[in-house]
Amino acid sequence: MRTLPPVLALVTFATTASAQAPEWDLARARAILDQAAELRLAPALSDLRPGERTAVGKLLEAGALMQALYEQQRHPQALAAKAALEARHAQAPTELTRALRDLYRLNQGPIAVTLDNRREPFLAVAPQAPERNVYPAGATAEALEAFAQAHPERRAELFDTRSVVRRADAASIAADLAALDRHPVLDGLHPGLRARLQALPRDGGFYAVPQAVAHADELVAAHRLLREAAEAVADEDPEFAGYLRHRGRDLLANDYEAGDAAWVSGHFRNLNAQVGSYETYDDALFGVKAFFSLSLLKKDAERSAAVAKAVAGLQAIQDALPAPPRRVREEIPVGVYDVIADFGQARGTNTATILPNEAVHARRYGRVILLRRNVMTAAPILDAQLAAFRAATVPAHHGELHGDAEFQRTLWHEVGHYLGVDRTADGRDLDAALQGAADLLEEMKADLVSLFAGPALRARGYHDDAALKALYAAGVRRTLQNNRPRRDQPYQTMQLMQQNFFLEHGLLAWEGDALAIRHERYPAVVAALLKEVLAVQHAGDRARAEAFVARWTGWSERHEALAAKLRAAGGPRFRLVRYGALGE
Ligand SMILES: [Zn+2]
Repeated sequence: MRTLPPVLALVTFATTASAQAPEWDLARARAILDQAAELRLAPALSDLRPGERTAVGKLLEAGALMQALYEQQRHPQALAAKAALEARHAQAPTELTRALRDLYRLNQGPIAVTLDNRREPFLAVAPQAPERNVYPAGATAEALEAFAQAHPERRAELFDTRSVVRRADAASIAADLAALDRHPVLDGLHPGLRARLQALPRDGGFYAVPQAVAHADELVAAHRLLREAAEAVADEDPEFAGYLRHRGRDLLANDYEAGDAAWVSGHFRNLNAQVGSYETYDDALFGVKAFFSLSLLKKDAERSAAVAKAVAGLQAIQDALPAPPRRVREEIPVGVYDVIADFGQARGTNTATILPNEAVHARRYGRVILLRRNVMTAAPILDAQLAAFRAATVPAHHGELHGDAEFQRTLWHEVGHYLGVDRTADGRDLDAALQGAADLLEEMKADLVSLFAGPALRARGYHDDAALKALYAAGVRRTLQNNRPRRDQPYQTMQLMQQNFFLEHGLLAWEGDALAIRHERYPAVVAALLKEVLAVQHAGDRARAEAFVARWTGWSERHEALAAKLRAAGGPRFRLVRYGALGE
């Protein structure tokens, strides 16, 4: 025990944090793994040039580092638990160790999502805590907020998207100073940090260090690998090489602006890569901390050219939105890719990405849209979408949905992130203003823009009548939930909100235990909900946002019955993705 200063009275040390759950037995592990469909991604790499192939190898190595960082960010005991399991398996492999390794792989750590959508440890580790491993163990949102109010000079570092929050004790500060000693390059790139750390009172309060320092060894190694990858492709793809050089330095400087600019505006040949910490979905306390990822992608040149042509003329769609006027970029970099391998936060069955998130970088340089073709078109993904749609809707709609509609919905969802409101009425960033509701609202806006733009694109001849109907069917499919969403699931939560709004406003109607789509109601209802989302974003009022979320997240017996039908129809619940490039 130690004595804490009064300002920390609100800090509660979760007693459960020290309680280790028992390891699961084979039956429990099997119950989850039986619900996991395997998906193997393995685009042909034989047509890459020699330098590109060398770069692929280097970037896969960097990916392994990002994977370990991500697991570590999510649970303080993840890597130790994994190492112990791997050692056991190497010594005496059993059905149980095999199953536990697959569970770890599926969940990217020692906490499993259960069949009833709870998160439970399956190895002997502490339960998942909302502070994950990016805030100190036991720190609550209230305690951090109270501390920031008492120490306004530390607020920016504490809530920085790429910092790690620590307790100001001798051991933490010594560890950070030791990282600067080990890596003089970091000392040079973060002037003043050493002196600031040395001057910190060891009073058990809070401070934060850049990820570059908190994860110094891994990021210095990643920098070297990115530089080597850049050298390998310097002749074959100088723009990609330039981006990799910048991104490597970004990881050390903890400032992604140079790499983001080179990434978003670059014209690359065959390869592309998302590298670093971007998405904040895993931060359950404030939704501000970015978690590490790496995606290595191979371009589909033909499809990329076709899509780029299709997204011309965005200003007209922006002007039609129920939002304050705003100039948007007419030319946005959008490409169709096959995933070579994904790591960390990017791993899974994500079908598309738009980055960077930081509003100031997005305003200066734009954002890059990466559509992941071999994920989108993978049979387990598409089949499950079609099965869910048919289980939920009356037979008259069963023929309306097809794979291309899901591709179009995804494409225009990503484009939708470009449009609408990009800051609050009083000029604040949406993330800072809306915090835990920011991601959810941004995703809902993107979903709704994809549907809102439909009629305008029909008028332009981009969609025909059948394609617009199919897009609308995909919009309904998107809202289906096979479990009641937890509030910490931004996507599922905003999907449920859409479904409830659609039901209450007559776009959807119950016919028995199935849904009917009133296509003629579609444009008006989508516009009405979009107007409300944009207004909440523009106001930038966290309380109003939460009230909006609460208003539309009701869950009735009908929802539960539909969820049960979807669970029965949906086939395997989870996706275990394997990558040919990793020898899987
Ligand atoms: Zn999105």
